[in-house]
Amino acid sequence: MTTLSKILDEIQSYLPGCNTRIVEKAYEWAAKLHEGQIRKSGEPYLSHPMEVAYILTQMRLDLPTIAAGLLHDAVEDSQISIEEISKEFGEEIAFIVDGVTKLKKIPGSMNKITKQAESLRKIILGMSKDLRVILVKLADRLHNMRTLQYQAEHKRQKIAKETLEIYAPLAGRLGIDWIKCELEDLSFKYLYPEEYKRLKVEVEKRIKEAEEYVEKVKSILRELLQKNNIKGKVLGRVKHLYSVYRKLQKYNLTIDELDQVYDLIGFRIIVNTVEECYRTLGFVHALWTPIPGRFKDYISLPKPNMYQSLHTTVLGPNSKKIEIQIRTEYMDKIANEGIAAHFLYKEGFFTSKREHYKYLEWLNKLIELQKELKHPREFLESLKLDLFPDEIYVFTPKGDVIVLPVGATPIDFAYTIHTEIGNKCVRAFVNDKLVPLDYKLQTGDVVKIETSPYQKPSRDWLKVVVTGRARSRIKQWFKKEEKEKLVNLGKELLNKELRKYKLSLNTFIEESEKDLAILDNFKIKSLDELFYQIGSAKVSAKHIAKVFAEKTGREISDKEEIVEKIPKEVSAEKVFLEPSKDIIVVEGAKDILFHLAQCCKPIPGDEIVGYITRGKGISVHRTDCPNLKDLDSERFVEVSWGSYDSKTYPVHLYIICLDRKGLLANISSAIAASESNILKAHVKTTSDKKAFFEFYIEVNNKTHLDKIISNIFKVEGVLKVERKLG
Ligand code: MN
Repeated sequence: MTTLSKILDEIQSYLPGCNTRIVEKAYEWAAKLHEGQIRKSGEPYLSHPMEVAYILTQMRLDLPTIAAGLLHDAVEDSQISIEEISKEFGEEIAFIVDGVTKLKKIPGSMNKITKQAESLRKIILGMSKDLRVILVKLADRLHNMRTLQYQAEHKRQKIAKETLEIYAPLAGRLGIDWIKCELEDLSFKYLYPEEYKRLKVEVEKRIKEAEEYVEKVKSILRELLQKNNIKGKVLGRVKHLYSVYRKLQKYNLTIDELDQVYDLIGFRIIVNTVEECYRTLGFVHALWTPIPGRFKDYISLPKPNMYQSLHTTVLGPNSKKIEIQIRTEYMDKIANEGIAAHFLYKEGFFTSKREHYKYLEWLNKLIELQKELKHPREFLESLKLDLFPDEIYVFTPKGDVIVLPVGATPIDFAYTIHTEIGNKCVRAFVNDKLVPLDYKLQTGDVVKIETSPYQKPSRDWLKVVVTGRARSRIKQWFKKEEKEKLVNLGKELLNKELRKYKLSLNTFIEESEKDLAILDNFKIKSLDELFYQIGSAKVSAKHIAKVFAEKTGREISDKEEIVEKIPKEVSAEKVFLEPSKDIIVVEGAKDILFHLAQCCKPIPGDEIVGYITRGKGISVHRTDCPNLKDLDSERFVEVSWGSYDSKTYPVHLYIICLDRKGLLANISSAIAASESNILKAHVKTTSDKKAFFEFYIEVNNKTHLDKIISNIFKVEGVLKVERKLG
């Protein structure tokens, strides 16, 4: 078991002479807090935070991080609160402990992509506040993986899967290669135990066989350096098992075909300067033939996690392919230890002076160091690449990270922030530039949404949004709006019926509120519900009015039934009496839910009648529509045209002519001269020299149509012009 002195010794190796009191105090508290607790392994619980702290010293982290490592399970497993930790150890350590505790609440099952996204979101948010939260979490996970054999089988699988999918790639992206490799191999062992065992045996066998060859290559390379006056080291290293396994999978090979994977052993040359790296590469290529397409220069184009190195594959002794990496000492450290090593190298240790640095500042540092890395996008892209290829990361103007699926638009973004922002969004700015609302967001975009109190969601939005949240919120909005419209329609319909008894809607509402018995008959709970039922033709307004009138002792004052009036008395003139923004008006009711019937396609100016459909508002028909006779007369309602400025309506015309040359052209130009669009046209001629034309045209209203028809009649040979239904 790791002892306190082992931890303190390790700290002294990279922070010589520092005062480690805070770590000692954290140890004392952890020992007290976990007293009597036992791990599944049978060891005292304290062994876990101790190992975690030791791993953190191997990552050469600062004292607050190591103290936080010792205390990382204390809040969850015992009685101490974050506030107490803050009081005893300061806010900084409390923040890290708190962050690690919150990360534990990540959903366990990693099967669902949404849950994965949630996990990653938490991790990124954790990183954006203090990277050290993640470093402690990685150390915690590493020790838990090392002791995974004590967990129940189903838990092992789950933890190993999560480690392989999230934590190992994360360690890789942070450049902490040794943790990444260990996490991968441990996960591999538990997820695919058979393959792991066989591959381990096979790889070890081959490494043994290759020992002599490896030594030969190493000595040739050493000689090469010496001959050219370059001081450096040559290493032969065995690739970690999981990377070999992945390679087999990549080339669709079985473990028996392992011999086809040539790079079980990689060679690494470590020199002092960048210039020596390139010179060494030149000497290696002069000695052994390089394999085309296998050379990679990560020195001039570093990976986003700061990794730098030259990679090449050559035909070595006995014409065997060998992989060689060439890099400086510093690059080697970065490759193994990641970001922490950078500070370590420049400043001696991962300094606590940076105790308040934020993730984005760290990104900025990264960018400063690597000119090629022009945008945080690149880091984020590489960060999530292995994890979730289908997601993008964008920022709010305040710098908060929002995770969205690929293809997400500013509308999705707006709904992710807040439903009301979504409902009211009018304009979007990406990186300070105005973009259309259906713009496809990219990782790294900073998105600003402008809202307006007058904005409403549009049905077109449903065609562009990709998040379920936006889609459901938009639909919800329309549902609510429709419901409101139906409630209003119900009120108007009832009002009309009540007036026949010289009663008003207000009286009805007042009386009903005093005595809801009238609603009881219909099993309706509230007045709004009643209006809604009337508006959607589930309850008859006439009937309700009658029941109510009987209760109040009224008799119908006007025996004329509205149904009888309809076909005769609806007049187009009414249209212009009541200016309204609505195309269809039901006596005073505004903003009603309606649609123009598809069977007869009325246009403004046509004589029309409304029919209350079940739940879809009013369907507006022409009074000469033959379908009317099949409809339930109880549900007819008087409607009139409101204003209908710029819209156009389709009309189907049937024209009979005496056939002659140029007729189609003449009719077409008569229509065009009337400022109408032709959508479609059909021509048929008969042996008796008659021509039959069918035109589908767009008109503004009845007056417009009349004018078009009279213009068509002016064309020579036209016998008949008929407007068809539909
Ligand atoms: Mn733990």
